[in-house]
Amino acid sequence: MQTHFAPEQLADPHIPPLEKILRSCVHCGFCTATCPTYLITGDERESPRGRIYLIKDLLETGRAPTDEDVGPIDRCLSCMACMTTCPSGVEYRRLIDHAHILVERRYRRPLAERLLRAALARLLPSRRAFGFALRLAAIGRPLAPILARAPGIGGKLTAMLALAPKPASKSEPRSGDARPGVSKAPATLAKGRRVALLTGCAQAALAPDINAAAIRLLNRAGIDVVSAAGEGCCGAMLYHMGHERRALEQARVNVDAWMREIDGGGLEAIIVTTSGCGSAIKDYAHMLRDDPAYADKAARVAALAKDVSEYVGGLDLAFDNPQKLTIAYHPACSLQHGQKILEGPKTLLRRAGFEVRSPVEAHICCGSAGNYNILQPEMAGALRSRKVAHLERLKPDAIAAGNIGCLSQIASGTATPVVHTVELLDWASGGPRPAALG
Ligand code: SF4
Ligand code: SF4
Repeated sequence: MQTHFAPEQLADPHIPPLEKILRSCVHCGFCTATCPTYLITGDERESPRGRIYLIKDLLETGRAPTDEDVGPIDRCLSCMACMTTCPSGVEYRRLIDHAHILVERRYRRPLAERLLRAALARLLPSRRAFGFALRLAAIGRPLAPILARAPGIGGKLTAMLALAPKPASKSEPRSGDARPGVSKAPATLAKGRRVALLTGCAQAALAPDINAAAIRLLNRAGIDVVSAAGEGCCGAMLYHMGHERRALEQARVNVDAWMREIDGGGLEAIIVTTSGCGSAIKDYAHMLRDDPAYADKAARVAALAKDVSEYVGGLDLAFDNPQKLTIAYHPACSLQHGQKILEGPKTLLRRAGFEVRSPVEAHICCGSAGNYNILQPEMAGALRSRKVAHLERLKPDAIAAGNIGCLSQIASGTATPVVHTVELLDWASGGPRPAALG
């Protein structure tokens, strides 16, 4: 693709790398075949190629984004299916991340939308605030028909209420909760190996059982698990909303928290059970590349980050599966496209004695995509219906995935139990039956 940047534009250090990415696109259009928004709309502007042209125009002209520009940028799921398909290796991710930042800085959204986005950017990255919001949502659910009439954001408010599960009751186990400390492997199994487990933000409030299962599984394999004091939201949600400064601040907080552990007791890996967060933490080296105080530390942290399935796949675990269920496995985009992990979780589930089936269109997003299912409820709803239909066609006993966003999104559209892969692995190796299985 030809580009036309003036020398003064190329003096901005952000532009040359973006120009290089734009120039690598040969506008062949292969990516359109796997783009969820193009699949639903058939509209070139809603395809990766259409968005690349749009971003190129915004960068070259330096003009402020208009309503017509912001729609296709907002509707991109950042699912990265287009990157997996692209034969030219176009790093689309960098283009869309920059477009989000551009929109946030130079486009004024309607007031109601601004307020909603500001509330989400405050609530979602905070464990405590998000837990409180879940309780509010439980109270507010009967008000959904009234909220639906709120001008401009009614659909988004009702989508938010519909997605919010009941918060975990106080009597439920909370061992995956946010308290810092070390969960030690039993003395008879201990191997002197030590990993950190990301507690993060939304998942800790929505589904504490997931990290509890990961801790039990790792301890059973002789691994000590640290919850580092001070760590929190990975920053991905803020980054995708264009809040670059706050996202980088959050990344620095996490780098500091894990560096204390690396320099203290040492860490073999930083384990992440939410693949959206794992994808972001593996990108810390890029996010903090221009910060001389953090670039090296961020690269060390990023190199240690592992999806839980990636790390557990290399462990010597004994499975004695109590019930050989049929599992429909949904590969989260952040796992298959973001981290290039596709077969590992399925191989693990088979090793654990489950029958694993893959749906058609496994490469297509379920519509969750961080807070996309709140901000773009129509497109997210269409993608969820498509995904759930494909999964249910497999007649599974349960659906498994490795990302809390996908789990919530799919669970809101099906009566089939939806569980995290690590909960099944924990159960098959001696842990409790996952609560979702009843
Ligand atoms: S597949 Fe790659 S090279 Fe082809 S249009 Fe899409 S982004 Fe450009
Ligand atoms: S990231 Fe996903 S939604 Fe966005 S252009 Fe690429 S394939 Fe389409």
